[in-house]
Order: sequence, then structure tokens, then C-alpha cells
Amino acid sequence: MRSQALELAAGQAWDLVVIGGGITGASVLREAARSGLRSLLLEQRDFAWGASSRSGKWVHGGLRYLQQGQMNVTWHSVRQREKLCHELTGLIDMQPMLWPLYKGQLADEVLIRAGLFVYDLIAGKRWRRSMPLAAVQQAFPDLHAPHLKGGICFYEGQTDDARMTLRVLQEARKAGGVALNYAPVVGLHREGNLVRGVQVATSSAQEPLRIQAKQVIAATGAWSDGIRAHVAHDKNSRLRPLRGSHLVFDRVRLPIDATIVLKHPRDRRPGFIAPFQGRVIVGNTDLDHDQDMRKEASITPWEVDYLLETVQHYFPALQIGRQDIIATFSGVRPVVDSGASDPSAESRDHVVWHEDELITIGGGKLTTFQHIALDALQRAKAKFPQMKLDGPPGPILTQPNPSLGVPDSLSAAQWQRLQGRYGDAASAMVLAAEPGTLTLIPGTETLWAELVWCAAHEDVQHLDDLLLRRTRIGILLAEGGRSYMPRIRELTQPALGWADDQWHAEEARYLEICRQHYSVPPVPGSDA
Ligand SMILES: Cc1cc2nc3c(=O)[nH]c(=O)nc-3n(C[C@H](O)[C@H](O)[C@H](O)COP(=O)(O)OP(=O)(O)OC[C@H]3O[C@@H](n4cnc5c(N)ncnc54)[C@H](O)[C@@H]3O)c2cc1C
Repeated sequence: MRSQALELAAGQAWDLVVIGGGITGASVLREAARSGLRSLLLEQRDFAWGASSRSGKWVHGGLRYLQQGQMNVTWHSVRQREKLCHELTGLIDMQPMLWPLYKGQLADEVLIRAGLFVYDLIAGKRWRRSMPLAAVQQAFPDLHAPHLKGGICFYEGQTDDARMTLRVLQEARKAGGVALNYAPVVGLHREGNLVRGVQVATSSAQEPLRIQAKQVIAATGAWSDGIRAHVAHDKNSRLRPLRGSHLVFDRVRLPIDATIVLKHPRDRRPGFIAPFQGRVIVGNTDLDHDQDMRKEASITPWEVDYLLETVQHYFPALQIGRQDIIATFSGVRPVVDSGASDPSAESRDHVVWHEDELITIGGGKLTTFQHIALDALQRAKAKFPQMKLDGPPGPILTQPNPSLGVPDSLSAAQWQRLQGRYGDAASAMVLAAEPGTLTLIPGTETLWAELVWCAAHEDVQHLDDLLLRRTRIGILLAEGGRSYMPRIRELTQPALGWADDQWHAEEARYLEICRQHYSVPPVPGSDA
């Protein structure tokens, strides 16, 4: 099937080929298609397989970046946050966050107050407010912080990163863009010195297929040095892949109803504990990534201990331990290398390189995806004068029809969530839902009907596509939701069209991915 689609693509004349199906590539496709370019996106694994399903899930300004003087990043991030939260209701929600204040730490307090003042100035809206000690204690009754004197409440957007990527892709397709997953680009097609297309590996042919395009843009995240190597005159890597990892807890064990920012007890690096889709996430680390880039990133035992230390230090009465972690997830940030000794000191700004007519995007954030995409397309403007890139950026999503009432079987919040995640398709999903499937998968905010819909309509090639990125079952349930597998199979196997043998192979593959990359790794030297 995929080979046929690629052969079909190879027979066409494209204006633009985008390599990489994370949020950046999806956004480039969306903006290019909006401008009428015949555009094709190729993703080597699954859409959002890279950092775009493994982020901290914040659509945020980034207070840390402001404190580091990365004013440009904060400016664009806050502006984008305001735009996205307005446009992507049901997909991004503004969440209250507490920054605790402690006695005797005046310098910290001045810095954070100044940062939040600038935030609000850029947003053109006052989000921040002070919280007295009693209010902080009421909101976080288990918080143990002897020198606490109160806090500041501010707001950031929280999203489902993988679904945001899929939603942007959905819009890109609606505007005429084509996106294919499991289509690895293994080389560039050149005419003379200039890049004029890509070579894609297929399962049906030994030789890669050539797909020609007037312009190629690599939105390949932390893998960008690999693509650039085909054209780069300097062979030095420009990226510094930095791994970040998270722990996921059951809310019963870690009862947190609002996000709290906490400095690590040893190195004072800020992290967060946040509610997410019925669970609680603790994040994150920021370390040089020396694992094999062809494999999914995995948390290390050291990172587990580091993140646990924060929880144990601030919530000692809860007696949280490794046994309470239900899942983990790790991703690799595509950060541009400046040689800073501290990984967290590296800028999170994006860079666009233009070499032999290949445009490559480095760095950036989830939050600023539209800004990054427009910047990259700007470099191709001379080739496509019809592109309208000046003036305020257009809306990213078409809004669902407001006259559609809330279906009887759903709450208003559930309906908004579905519309945010699936756009127009939400109505069709509800209409097609089998009796009993508009109910929640226990421990999550996901409906059983979502699994069926995604299995039938969202390019699922493997079970992990469905359970880790179309829905987030794999990071929300212990052992990737193994105990629900019979029900998942009953509902989705017909829509996937897989014979029993294929189902068994897919289930085994998925559970192994969960074990290796989304679980708690054994402590070195233990028998586990
Ligand atoms: C732990 C962590 C926490 C983060 N938290 C936040 C946050 O809270 N807020 C925020 O704004 N940002 C955050 N970020 C940053 C954000 O996630 C990334 O900047 C963003 O997702 C990058 O998107 P991308 O599309 O550029 O890269 P990716 O999502 O990595 O996508 C690149 C894609 O290119 C594909 N690809 C690579 N090579 C090829 C090839 N040869 N052929 C075809 N496809 C190829 C890959 O498979 C991959 O899917 C975080 C990142 C991490 C890792």
C-alpha cells in the first residue's frame, strides 16, 4: 500500500517535498498547501514519532529562556501561545501553574516577577496573580516546603503534542497537501550541484524511488545533520541532540490538580509536576543524548532517580517510589549546538540553513511551529512568488461548525476535546460510534470510539501508531494498556483489516516497544 502511494507520488511533479512528519514538517506542509504549492511530506516512521510526541506538552513562553536572555524565543513563543490557545480550543488549554516563593530567596522572586511581568506585557493580558501562603497550602496540601511564603499563579497552554501534529496535518491535507508515513528519505536527488528532489526507500523495490521537486525542505528535527550531510560543505554536526525524559503517575498516588514548578533539590534546575489527561507527569531532564539515533529514546535509571528525587523531596508524605511509576517517555530535542557546557544553556531558537538549494530547519520548539514554518518558506519565496507570506499568519485550523450541538452521550468538555483533536471528523466519529464506545477508557480521558475511528481513518500502519500517537494509551496506562488488549483488539482489528497472525505480531511489537522505551528501566545490577 505504502509502496503504491510512493510510486504514485514519484510520477508527479511537486513544488515542494518536506522531509519529516513532526510538528515543524506538518506546519510547513500546511502553510505551503495554503499558498497553493503542490506539496508532499515524507516521514520515515510515523507522524510525530520524533520529539513531537515526547515533549513536555507545553505551549509556553519559556520563563527559563527569558531569564537566559533569549528574548527572541520568548517574544515569539508568548505571541504564538496566545494565538494557538485562541484557535485550538479543545486541543490546547490554558492551565494554571504555581511558582512557589520561599523566604530568604528575594533574588529569585524578583527575577520571576520580572519575567512574568514581561510575559504579560508581550501577551497584552495580565495572566499572573499572587497567591498567599494559605491558598498555596490549600491547592497543594501535601507540599512540604518549610520556607514557603506563598506563590505566583500564571498560565501556560497544555496540549497533546502528537494530536496537535496530526490536526495540523489534517488541515494541510484539506488544503491539498499530501503526507505519507513510513516513507524514509535515504538520499537527495541532485541536478548538477542543486537539490531537486529526494530518494525514498520502499519495501517493494531494491532501488530507492526518485521524487522530484522544485524545493526540498528538511524538517527532520534531531536527525537534521544526517540529511544536511548530503549537501553540507562543512561536515561538522550543527545540532546537539538533548534528551528529555518524563515520569507518569496515577493521580491516586500523586494527587496533583494543578501544575507546580519545582527546583530540583540538588542542582536547582526547574522542573514541573502537571496533570495530563487523567494522569500526572513529572518532567523533565536535559542531557546530551548518546543513544543510537535510529532507536526510540529511552529514560535511563539515573534520570528516573533524578526526577523521583524532586517528587520525594517536595512530597515526602506521599512516599512515592519507582513502583508507583506507570510509564515513562523520552524525546530528543533538536537543539542548535553553540558549545555551551550546560545543555540547558543552549538556545531554543530555530535556525534555517540554505545549502545547494536544500533548506534545513534546526532547533525550535513545539510552541513556535507556525513561525518556524513561515520562516523556512520565506527562503523559498523567490521560486514561488505566488506564496503570500507577508502580513499576519493565517489561521492554522478551520474551526468546526459552531451550530453543531453537543451530542447527548457526551459532556460539553468531552465534545470540545473531540472537536479540538479531530476537527470536522469529530461529528462523523460520534455518528459512527458503536453502542457503548462513547465511554472512557479507564484511567484516561480517551473514548473507546477514538481508537476505532483512528484505526479506520488515520494512516495507522502499526499498533504503536494507534496506541502511542493517535491516542496516548501507551503513556497513560501501565504496560502500555496490556490488560485492555482484548477489548482494543475486538474494537480495532476489523477496522485495521489485520488477520490474526498480523495482530499477534503487532501486539508483540507494541508491547516490546513499551517495555523498552516507555517503562521504568531496571536498576543496573538488579535481576529485573
Ligand atoms: C523532552 C522534551 C520536552 C520538550 N518540551 C517542550 C515543550 O513543553 N514545549 C515546546 O514548545 N517544545 C518542547 N520541546 C521541543 C519540541 O518538542 C520540539 O522542538 C519539536 O517537537 C520539534 O519538532 P520537529 O518536527 O522539528 O522535530 P521532530 O518532532 O523530531 O520530527 C522530525 C521528524 O523527522 C523524521 N525524519 C528524520 N529523518 C528522516 C528521513 N530521512 N526521512 C523521513 N523522515 C525523517 C523523524 O522520524 C521525525 O518524525 C520538547 C522536546 C523534548 C525532547
